[in-house]
Amino acid sequence: MVLDKIGEGLRAALEKVTRAGLVDRAVVEELIKDIQRALLSGDVDVKLVFELTQKIKKRALDEKPQAGVTGREHIIKIVYDELVAFLGKKSDIKLNGKILLCGLFGSGKTTTAGKLARFCQKKGVRVGLICCDAFRPAAYEQLQQISEQLGVTFFGIKGEKDSAKILTEGLKKMADKDIIIIDSSGRNALNGEMIDEIKELNSISNADERLLVLPADIGQAAKVQSEEFQKALGITGVIITKLDGTAKGGGALTACAISGAPVKFIGTGEKMEAFEQFDPERFISRLLGLGDLQSLLEKAKESGAEESAKAIASGRFTLSEFYSQLEAMQKMGPLKSVLDSIPGFGNMKMPKETDLSKQEGKMKKWKYIIQSMTMQEKENPELMDGSRIKRIAKGSGVTEPDVRELLKAFEQSKKVMKMVSGGSKRGIMGKMMKRFKGFG
Ligand code: GDP
Ligand code: MG
Repeated sequence: MVLDKIGEGLRAALEKVTRAGLVDRAVVEELIKDIQRALLSGDVDVKLVFELTQKIKKRALDEKPQAGVTGREHIIKIVYDELVAFLGKKSDIKLNGKILLCGLFGSGKTTTAGKLARFCQKKGVRVGLICCDAFRPAAYEQLQQISEQLGVTFFGIKGEKDSAKILTEGLKKMADKDIIIIDSSGRNALNGEMIDEIKELNSISNADERLLVLPADIGQAAKVQSEEFQKALGITGVIITKLDGTAKGGGALTACAISGAPVKFIGTGEKMEAFEQFDPERFISRLLGLGDLQSLLEKAKESGAEESAKAIASGRFTLSEFYSQLEAMQKMGPLKSVLDSIPGFGNMKMPKETDLSKQEGKMKKWKYIIQSMTMQEKENPELMDGSRIKRIAKGSGVTEPDVRELLKAFEQSKKVMKMVSGGSKRGIMGKMMKRFKGFG
């Protein structure tokens, strides 16, 4: 997960508050120290950490919780609010026009060009990619391959050294597109040559979005870089890549936020799917272990498993949900990433057996088995006995141990679901709603 260290630290800090029962001054002071430690471990600037935690402290000590809100919920709400404010507002992106990507060598521009194209594709707009990196050998092939993989129109001129010329021709060819994404060349450092080139591409394209691509592992140095590119180009936003592989992500994210360049997207892996629009509210919610039901439901919608996700989120989990889960698995990604989105799940260690992503072959078998069950059995798995198992095994062409194995895996998943819903009648969703009652 992204920002592992900070997230773990913050969740542990909030858990301490929960265990304390009564929230008094000593508890608040300890919380403040814990939050400071967590943020510093993630490379956030010392001065920023101090300012932020002073705000949290003041509010936690001065403000009284509203009626019906416990002291603990009140504190969580304050921490959540202040962290969100710290990261700034969600900044949208125009879905028509031209997007110019800039940044140093290896920052992730070309990969990000592909991810952005995919993002636009999913929104249903016509998108094209232009390779204006005439500097690096094989830049053409790299973007061409990505375009092919995504099924997106690509333009480039192999061997052409004049990026301005490529862009001018490319724009003509892409006149029918809603969005044109322009990948540019980088340099090892921001220098005159690079600035001149990117400025020229900018004036030819008259780009609507000028996005700076920054790798998270540069940490707080993100501030200087975004300021320099801001001066040179007037960037409209930043994309932070490689948040998956560094402990310095907190530094990069917050440095951009304070430099006034909104973070618009984050990259969390090498694959095209490992990309999301940056939304401070959702981001912090996930980081604090409050879950991110909105993202979950969106993911589920894309994969056609919306009903199942809603059911799981509401605490319901029968073999029918398990089946939909299996079906959606490949499209949605591993169960673990789905569970990260559910409140209380993010920081939970899953039993090995429920790591379903590793059981691709079994999944098919399990689907046949569940298909052979009656509706009544699917809804009430406790009905399952020796003779039913025999019948189902026969009907689905598997062995009885196969059926038992499926039932065991299901029971294990169910246990995890139960742990989270804590036996509450209204389930996870209910708890989530309750937690946020009177908030915001
Ligand atoms: P460019 O020189 O700015 O165009 O950078 P590239 O797009 O070629 O990326 C450089 C390297 O970083 C490649 O190996 C990418 O696979 C990798 N990369 C890009 N974005 C991410 C990310 O979000 N996470 C991880 N782990 N790797 C990334
Ligand atoms: Mg590149």
